[in-house]
Amino acid sequence: MVKKIVLSLLGLLIVLLAVLLINTFRFKSAAVEGEKALAIGNHDSAAAHLSRAIQIKTVSFGDTLAIDTTEFTQFRSFMESTYPLMHSKLERTVFGEFSYVFKWKGKDTTAAPQVLMAHLDVVPVEAIAESKWTHPPFSGLISQDTIWGRGAVDDKGAAIAIMEATEELLNENYTPERTTYICFGHDEEISGRRGAKVFSKWFADNNIKPAVVLDEGGMIDTQQFKELKKPVAVIGTGEKGYVNIDIAVELPGGHSSMPLPETAIDILNTAISKVREEQMPAIITPPVQELLGVTVASQSLFTKMVVANQWLFKGALVSQMEKSKQTNAMIHTTLVPTIVKAGIKDNVIPTIAKATFNSRILPGQTSDDVVEFVKKAVNDPRVSVSKQTISLMEPSTTTPSTHPAFKKLASITYKTVPNALVSPYLVVGATDSRYFRSFSDAVLNFTPIQDAKGFHGIDERIGVTDLNRMVSFYRLFISGK
Ligand SMILES: [Zn+2]
Repeated sequence: MVKKIVLSLLGLLIVLLAVLLINTFRFKSAAVEGEKALAIGNHDSAAAHLSRAIQIKTVSFGDTLAIDTTEFTQFRSFMESTYPLMHSKLERTVFGEFSYVFKWKGKDTTAAPQVLMAHLDVVPVEAIAESKWTHPPFSGLISQDTIWGRGAVDDKGAAIAIMEATEELLNENYTPERTTYICFGHDEEISGRRGAKVFSKWFADNNIKPAVVLDEGGMIDTQQFKELKKPVAVIGTGEKGYVNIDIAVELPGGHSSMPLPETAIDILNTAISKVREEQMPAIITPPVQELLGVTVASQSLFTKMVVANQWLFKGALVSQMEKSKQTNAMIHTTLVPTIVKAGIKDNVIPTIAKATFNSRILPGQTSDDVVEFVKKAVNDPRVSVSKQTISLMEPSTTTPSTHPAFKKLASITYKTVPNALVSPYLVVGATDSRYFRSFSDAVLNFTPIQDAKGFHGIDERIGVTDLNRMVSFYRLFISGK
């Protein structure tokens, strides 16, 4: 009897192993071999123009803080004088004072238009970090084939490359097949409410439904998948949502010389810790699934087996991905406290203590799910939980990688990035293009930058090669090649 049981268990084990191995070997990496790359060419003026653009401090300080309009006005003059053809031949509409939409009429006016986007504002440089920069952050210094400064990568590099490509093509008397809109927002770093939100509504109100919208968001990765020995161009096909969750505790304060065992700050503190202790359930969304498919070729047999047999190993795959902050953000809705406020004086116990969590919501979950999760984690009626609506954005739908617009972008990428592998990807930040997702069925996020450094941080810089590559890339995009 025992022998029979052992034998049937052994039999089951062999069948299981066979299934796992068959799945592993049948699992095809989604990677497509690239076309032969074209020479990226010389776009002599691009670096000097980006250097000048960096020197103009178009900083978005904060959602409720005023911008320096002199700098933004200066940036407009810089654009007008540097790209005269673009300003004389294309029709410009101004939104929210400093955001611009340029219309470049195509040969075929019945074809759905294409939209190219970038933003003109940059994040501030923290005073405490300024001395740590190798070159002053607004110097725009060009040294050893690198352009240094705030905005070099995010996102003035792309804005300049788009304008260079446009000016070059106009200079060649080129007219695109499709009408092309070039959109520059001026407040992307503080939600895009005055720029992209307004001009995207203008598109919707005028019934202009873009065939494709291309914005920042994905880049060429050479760090995460080193074993592949190939650059991986990750093209964003979907974007996480964005919500701020406020939690607050109100308790009578008092004199700090006679504290109660628990104060508003103590309760808030515990609540924050509880929220941070766990994560919302993991979801492997389609873009991430495809990214795993493209990159699995470089992994060990065991990893391949795990990826190919998620019906059994999803748990193991998830815990592996949770180990790095980049991959964790791809499979989880994240929640992190970014603002904590309490107290006005050292000897007064405050009556109110508040915190704000910034959350990036995974497609498949909603802001209400986040609120529920926080309430459950905190599990204390003294703590109020609410979501802010002003900057709320639910997660986007995703553009399938079978969409012609994705295929076209992949082909352009192969032409400009030698040996690249191209993969869909989930954008974990939030970009201006999200405002187009409700009425364009192809919104893609990608800039062909291979060597991006320091964006939002110290020593932001970009290589001249990357900038030239971007100009070539946008030329191909505009001409629909
Ligand atoms: Zn950006």
